[in-house]
Amino acid sequence: MKKSLFLLLGAVILVGIIAGCKPKEEQVTDTDTTAVTLAAAPVCQSCAMPMAKPEDFGTEANGTLSKDYCIYCYKDGKFTAPDMTIDQMVEFLAPKWGEWTGKPDMTIEDAKKEVNQTLAGLKRWKTS
Ligand SMILES: [Zn+2]
Repeated sequence: MKKSLFLLLGAVILVGIIAGCKPKEEQVTDTDTTAVTLAAAPVCQSCAMPMAKPEDFGTEANGTLSKDYCIYCYKDGKFTAPDMTIDQMVEFLAPKWGEWTGKPDMTIEDAKKEVNQTLAGLKRWKTS
């Protein structure tokens, strides 16, 4: 009598242990921040290009990546075209602007206006 009760108790405990040991695959820890990083991709403070990958970023003189400028504008701690004016940058970007921003029908004049506005807010061209 006592023995069978003991066995029953043992079986109950065993079932409890098995139930408690269910695999917890659904508890995936959310350590993947790729989406967050992409959403917060900075733009080059010279030409407004989004910089999503490390190779998009310019480099400082000591080899570290620039936080502000892209590889096309800034290399080894210097602007690749240090004498460039905002007007020249607008001329350079305007023909591609519509395509880049998903508005291929944009006229060159409209593109220039939009580029000018965009660049005016960037660190390299801000006057104040
Ligand atoms: Zn750039």
